[in-house]
Amino acid sequence: MLAGRERALATVDLGAVRHNVVRLASLLPPGGKLCAVVKANGYGHGAVAVAEAAQAAGAAWLGVATVDEAAELRAAGLAGPLMIFGALTGSELQNAVTADADVSVWSERFLIEAQKVGARLHVKFNSGMGRLGADAATAERLAVAAAASGRLAGLMSHFATADEAETSYFNLQLDRFLDLATKLKQRFPEMIAHTANSAATLREPRAHCDMVRTGIAIYGLAPANDDPFKDDLRPAMRLSSYIADVRVVRPGESVGYGRRFIAERETRVAIVPIGYADGIARSLTDRGTVLIGGHRCAIKGTISMDQLTVELPGAVGKPGDEVVFIGLGNDQRILAEEVAQLLGTINYEVVCDVGPRVARRYVGAESAA
Ligand SMILES: *Cc1c(COP(=O)(O)O)cnc(C)c1O
Repeated sequence: MLAGRERALATVDLGAVRHNVVRLASLLPPGGKLCAVVKANGYGHGAVAVAEAAQAAGAAWLGVATVDEAAELRAAGLAGPLMIFGALTGSELQNAVTADADVSVWSERFLIEAQKVGARLHVKFNSGMGRLGADAATAERLAVAAAASGRLAGLMSHFATADEAETSYFNLQLDRFLDLATKLKQRFPEMIAHTANSAATLREPRAHCDMVRTGIAIYGLAPANDDPFKDDLRPAMRLSSYIADVRVVRPGESVGYGRRFIAERETRVAIVPIGYADGIARSLTDRGTVLIGGHRCAIKGTISMDQLTVELPGAVGKPGDEVVFIGLGNDQRILAEEVAQLLGTINYEVVCDVGPRVARRYVGAESAA
């Protein structure tokens, strides 16, 4: 009946991903490498398709958080350098080696385990993030020991405030990292030094070192949750559903759980078969907006697990029409950044929350970057 519509659909523009990777790589010094970060199922976009697009656009490395994410990429046939950023248990470490993925190391104890299974290592230096990572002296010892067994691949760190306007802590972390990296590179020139995330890559050429690890920006999202277009990034994801039915609600009648919406006058309401299980946060109830035929319409009533309701102004909307939650419609657009601001969170979380029940459709696979 409603041919061509998907219940809940994330349309991912791989041409946008390629554009963003090329754009970020254009900032780097000659020979500078880009690691495309595709953890969390490619920030909700689909790890395998994004990884392929990123490699096609010149990403030399892929980065993930967990060993299962690394194994998924290898199972899909992705070759090339791949690293796992996060902590690993003993069995995960073994699986990382099986997946031919590099791992990060910050303790003597983990170094011994990693040496046993022959893992390639990136020493993680805590320059000020204050989570995992070794102090400078320990990092140096680990690098020396890893190099002695021919397993030293890199030195890495991670910024805590690269997306914030105030730069003093960012610069402090960067100086600490550059001090250690310069010292170690004299002894181990093959080692790759990498510390920049998307925000640091866009902000500070001194942070580029041998490689940058860009996540959010390759998806066309703004690291500081402001405006991706100011950095010439193109949002890759469109999130949509459709109008399953239109009802006319009479004054005094209610819609949905808890009767959160009671019509004051005769109101046309669209029933949309997508809900919080798909990643439309329940706290957008009575706050979020959608695009229908290029018109902004308000989400009304409680967002349920599988459905939500939208008030239709005038004659807007009929069964089968597309309902856009993130994306463009005529001259209107809803950015993930806008949704995040409504929710008091960041664009990262908005796209990561797009659930496994949402179909991913890829467009732009063939066009030029
Ligand atoms: C997630 C992650 C990144 C990417 O950060 P973005 O802000 O998305 O660019 C880089 N490095 C590490 C270690 C990460 O965990």
